[in-house]
Amino acid sequence: MAQALLIFKPDAAHRLAVRAGIWSWLRTESEWSIKALTWFHPPPELVRSHYDFLQARPFFPWLVDFMTGLPVLVGRLEAEPAGLEQMRYELGETRIHESRPGSLRERYGIGGGVNVLHLSDSAESGDREIELWRAYLPLESVDAQLPTESERPDHTFHLRSLASQYGDGIHADLAAQEIMRLLREESDLAGDRFEALTRVILGAFTS
Ligand code: ADP
Repeated sequence: MAQALLIFKPDAAHRLAVRAGIWSWLRTESEWSIKALTWFHPPPELVRSHYDFLQARPFFPWLVDFMTGLPVLVGRLEAEPAGLEQMRYELGETRIHESRPGSLRERYGIGGGVNVLHLSDSAESGDREIELWRAYLPLESVDAQLPTESERPDHTFHLRSLASQYGDGIHADLAAQEIMRLLREESDLAGDRFEALTRVILGAFTS
């Protein structure tokens, strides 16, 4: 039996229809079993260690900001190695424009590295990641109560198109304003937390 670390990244944790859609998929537990899921606000040193192998990449400062800007949902799963492989297949490729049609990332990701979920890519990385995160939280029980439906809209494809325009510098100010309007409709965040969500999402297209 393999174990894997799962994280609803800020875009999936706080876009409510997206969170509900992903949770509906996850709780089918078709080839895996959810052992823990809890809200947690990761500190920068934990995210830096978790993504240590990406430190030299130009997007690393954005990645740390993205993963530490807001509380996220962190979980632990158990699956046979083939079940974990199936989950990674259903998740889709890392970068949204390369993600397999029909995969979760193609369906819900906004672009670049704003790709909804982290899931350990092998039993070995699962063990390593769980050990690392367990120094910060127990990962022993399912504490988060998530609905499987949401009345909020899901603007993924509109956001994806605007984010690409924003990244290309085409009507960038208008695109940013429209992205904020759509994110406001999708999430229930306010104040500093809403600002953090827009900062980390827009940052993916300028870093
Ligand atoms: P995965 O999450 O699919 O296992 P990696 O471990 O390679 O992928 O990368 C970790 C995270 O870093 C990605 O999920 C994504 O958020 C970000 N990332 C990776 N590569 C890029 C890239 N070329 N541009 C922007 N973000 C990236």
